[in-house]
Amino acid sequence: MTHRTLLLVALLISLGAGSVQAREPLLLIGIDGLRWDIIDRHTAPVLRALAAGGVRSQGLVPVMPSKTFPNFYAIATGLYPENNGVLDNASYDEALDMTFRMSLQDDARWFEGEPIWITAERQGVPAATMFWVGSSVENQGLRPRYWHPFDGSVSNADRVAQVLDWFALPPQERPQFVSVYFEAIDSASHEFGVDSPEERAAVAAVDASIGQLLEGLRVGGQLEQLNILVVGDHGMTNLDADRIIYLDDYLDISTLESLYSPQLSGERQGNAVFAAWHGEADQIDTLYQALALAHPELGVYRQAQFPEWFHQRHPQRSPDLILLPEPGWMVSKRGVPYTGPRANHGFSPHERDMHAALIASGPAFNSPQVVEPLELVHLYNLMARVLEIEPAPNDGDPARILPLLVPGR
Ligand code: AMP
Ligand code: ZN
Ligand code: ZN
Repeated sequence: MTHRTLLLVALLISLGAGSVQAREPLLLIGIDGLRWDIIDRHTAPVLRALAAGGVRSQGLVPVMPSKTFPNFYAIATGLYPENNGVLDNASYDEALDMTFRMSLQDDARWFEGEPIWITAERQGVPAATMFWVGSSVENQGLRPRYWHPFDGSVSNADRVAQVLDWFALPPQERPQFVSVYFEAIDSASHEFGVDSPEERAAVAAVDASIGQLLEGLRVGGQLEQLNILVVGDHGMTNLDADRIIYLDDYLDISTLESLYSPQLSGERQGNAVFAAWHGEADQIDTLYQALALAHPELGVYRQAQFPEWFHQRHPQRSPDLILLPEPGWMVSKRGVPYTGPRANHGFSPHERDMHAALIASGPAFNSPQVVEPLELVHLYNLMARVLEIEPAPNDGDPARILPLLVPGR
């Protein structure tokens, strides 16, 4: 090689490196139980400012059931539960004859489809997850370059510090997709109720943590080129002891106990806001006949009649029958005490109280604007577009996210 060619190669390499770094990184902030209106009901100066200067959706429509695992994993994959395997926080698999639960966060068989951090890694874009549902398993032989198994005892301050450390890495090692997750608001709402002082305090605390994160990024010089998505997984609504449907008032308890419901069986006798049942056809039929017209607040659906929008038709995990009470109602058995939670989610995704919040901020977004409610399966395409990577096949409609983006993005 001549001296001149060498110089040219060096120049091209540096330009190449420059263009990789020119990619705007994406920070995905997942806030459990961030209902669509919660920043208006409580003091949240940081999130309000992000929303006012960015794109805010009137609501982020969850998948059914409006629970944590199905929704955070639908955000990550752009796939409905029937296509990504995460049908509920607890889901029975008929072929494996086992129940996946949240504690099995490192069992790769749970998590089907391709989450955004794998899409990124596959295309040479380094990813980092400071917690996310499904991020603790290998997928196609890949993992996020940096990740932590979920551990609720890690403080919000430590989560923020980890994210800032990743953004402070030298350019070649720095992740360009980073997720971070906070559960404090969901926990407070469950225990103390919607609009409780404790919920208010949790919103203020999480808002302050995000404030520290943004301030750290500003000081580090990363904020200006950063795209940020703040997402909730579902909303929340209050419950009470007078709104319980006792299933054994309508059918023989032995019939009930011969069937299996991950939400209501065995040691998990608790009051459920959504219950999926598995059993033989004749037992399911008995359950259906007994409950179909039993209670005005109880929806009862056999698998063959699942509305399309349930998206619960997984080949091995599809329940045989689903009980879906009206908002604020629970199903239970006599003798099971109701000791909380005061508020819950899991109701129909069409209910306004179940809608989550979506705030997008950064150079990729067509801001400021307020957009119509958006289903959360569309976010995977949005993230792929912002990161300038090719999305894997998914259930989102790319046309739905165009209004959120700067024209041409
Ligand atoms: P939910 O019962 O739907 O309200 O679930 C909320 C809880 O999910 C949180 O309080 C966390 O403890 C738990 N959680 C969130 N993310 C994960 C994860 N990646 N792995 C295991 N558990 C999680
Ligand atoms: Zn949740
Ligand atoms: Zn919750």
